[in-house]
Amino acid sequence: MVISLRSGSRIFGVLLAAVSFTLPSLPAQQGSPAANHPVRTERSLAVGSAQLQVKLAEGHLDAGDSAIFEWVQRAAKAVSLYYGSFPLKQAQILVVPGEGRSGVSHGTTWGDMQGAPGFTRISVGEHTTSQELAADWMMTHELTHMAFPSLTRDHHWMEEGMATYIEPVARMQAGQLSREEFWKETIAGMPNGEPASGDEGLDRTHTWGRTYWGGALFYLVADISIRQQTGNRKGVEDAFRGIVAAGGTIDHDWPVEKVLEAGDRATGTPVLTRLYRKWSQSPETVDLDALWKDLGVQSIQGEIHFNESAKLAAVRRMMEQPSR
Ligand SMILES: [Zn+2]
Repeated sequence: MVISLRSGSRIFGVLLAAVSFTLPSLPAQQGSPAANHPVRTERSLAVGSAQLQVKLAEGHLDAGDSAIFEWVQRAAKAVSLYYGSFPLKQAQILVVPGEGRSGVSHGTTWGDMQGAPGFTRISVGEHTTSQELAADWMMTHELTHMAFPSLTRDHHWMEEGMATYIEPVARMQAGQLSREEFWKETIAGMPNGEPASGDEGLDRTHTWGRTYWGGALFYLVADISIRQQTGNRKGVEDAFRGIVAAGGTIDHDWPVEKVLEAGDRATGTPVLTRLYRKWSQSPETVDLDALWKDLGVQSIQGEIHFNESAKLAAVRRMMEQPSR
């Protein structure tokens, strides 16, 4: 089970990072996650050859049912584009209207639940507007979780990091998030993932920043390394696709070694295994300013500037495009 705590908004956890972070306890589920949510209406969405059963629980939604179904479809499309197809043949999404509120919140995704290999429950405030749905990241984040095996608690950062890393990339590649907006958020968010003093590596430091953004930073560095080692022919999405192709979806429990091996096999590089060995056990810092400079992207007073002759500009351009 994976829960979205990345942040409630695009403030990037300024609020959440300030409060203590505890991982949600896994067992003691009170009945099923759909309990106490009678369904008002539902629709089956086709996403390529996959079927998404979207259920709307009782309650009012200002935006209307169609806007909700379109929102799920759009998120599923971004995930499908990133992976080449939707990672599961079947999934179920339960949308629970939140009384008197607006905005998307409380996303949680389970493997093998409610009769589906992937099940997401998410709350949409009754006053949520279509514009808020169009700008939402959480639905994409949750569906991305379906494309990764369930790991043990120590490796929870690998699950949250992948969803945090992939979600904006997938939306940018699908044309749902502008390139400028993507880099603005990435440059603002990644510093949250750097180790603080006392950090003991990603497997042993379960803070909010290290779990979500530390994990995302791990995959960003992996992405760039894979591109550098393959003459820009492969990226971390090939590793992620390889993990899914090997059967690594949320309805399967895998040991971490199997994830690293399947990912590395797909790129023909040892990048994930080597990076994991270091980052899991020690506080690895990244010189982000130097990295942005190499990629040819800079945020100056909130405005994004690109430098197409930077050392790694070609790598950045490949990251911005949908892969084959
Ligand atoms: Zn998550």
